[in-house]
Amino acid sequence: MNFSNKKVLLRVDFNVPLDANNNITDDTRIKSALPTIQKLLANNNAVILMSHLGRPLKSLLDDGSINKEKYTLKHLVEHLSSALNLEVQFAADTVGEEARNKAEFLKPGEVLLLENTRFNKGEKKGDEDFAKQLSLLGDAYVNDAFGTAHRAHASTATIAQYFEASEKDFGLLMNREIENATKVLNSSELPYTAIIGGAKVSDKILLIEKLMAKANQLLIGGGMAYTFIKAEGGAIGNSLCEDEKLDVARNILDKAIENNCAIQLPADSIIADRFDNNANIKVVDSTKIPDGWMGLDIGPRAKSDFTLFVENSKTILWNGPMGVFEMENFANGTRAIAHAAAYATQYNRAYSLIGGGDSVAAINQTGLQDRVSFVSTGGGAMLEFLEGKQLPGIAAIKR
Ligand code: AMP
Repeated sequence: MNFSNKKVLLRVDFNVPLDANNNITDDTRIKSALPTIQKLLANNNAVILMSHLGRPLKSLLDDGSINKEKYTLKHLVEHLSSALNLEVQFAADTVGEEARNKAEFLKPGEVLLLENTRFNKGEKKGDEDFAKQLSLLGDAYVNDAFGTAHRAHASTATIAQYFEASEKDFGLLMNREIENATKVLNSSELPYTAIIGGAKVSDKILLIEKLMAKANQLLIGGGMAYTFIKAEGGAIGNSLCEDEKLDVARNILDKAIENNCAIQLPADSIIADRFDNNANIKVVDSTKIPDGWMGLDIGPRAKSDFTLFVENSKTILWNGPMGVFEMENFANGTRAIAHAAAYATQYNRAYSLIGGGDSVAAINQTGLQDRVSFVSTGGGAMLEFLEGKQLPGIAAIKR
């Protein structure tokens, strides 16, 4: 990142949500990339920005063409220009004549945004020819798109091979993500508590197996807890359950004992007679849920058990909500974890990392995002990193 006087190709994640009038409804991803852009500009570089937006090749128009009006990155130019306080140039293609010309004449201190990389079929395929053509637009490559680091796409991974080691690097955001994820994985500060929630066990098996080797306790909440409770012989009524994963759940419970990791399931649950915020609700023991009822949040006893573990921890890793937090009546368990993580960070000097899409939304909902140690921007990428997988976007820079 100490390049100067170069044309730097910077891969960012500008996959922002837009409303029906193409206004940006949440610019977190743009804001997160600003420090890297500003640092490169301050070092007298020209910056060529590359990003994808949505899935244009999955939503073609009736005549089979790309819906450019909907997916063009041009929608971002005005917002980005005002965030950077300079006039951002735009090329209506990625490797065509317009992009080549504008890149060629780009001067230090100037910024050029290329069109959506996914307008080119080669992007998602990690195509070498497309990546090579992109690489020719600049003389250094920086990847700051942690959110897509788990994809081996042309602009996130393949492109890096066309630059020498001294001409490629991670951006500041990517660096922070890697540093924090590495820190939580390597932390030896005990007690170490991992909180895993969300809908499905199947999405989190690898993560749970990885973490049980590290954590003193693993608190399991959310819909996935009921597969474990059923595996232990509990009655879960109509709660979410992956019957084909009961063996896996039993196996995880056995392995945890071997690893000296205590798996804590919610002692009680808030149950509802339908999947609705206005459903009738009751609090029952999580192993005694009647037919026709489903567990949609951890109950008060589980909430205080989990809070106690989290508040007394020195290392905290949280991925996935404790209940259907999108509905007000089932958001309390998730909020309690957010508060406990913030409390431990502040008063117990704990290191706390919140990773994964929904737990990030949940901590933002409580307004406590600045009171934990780190909130990751990369959902799938963070999950895969924590599982111990090598991410193509990271490997390509290190190679
Ligand atoms: P995931 O993407 O696997 O992290 O799951 C997040 C989703 O799980 C959220 O949309 C939650 O509403 C949902 N969820 C959490 N707890 C439950 C539950 N007890 N029953 C059904 N869905 C749940």
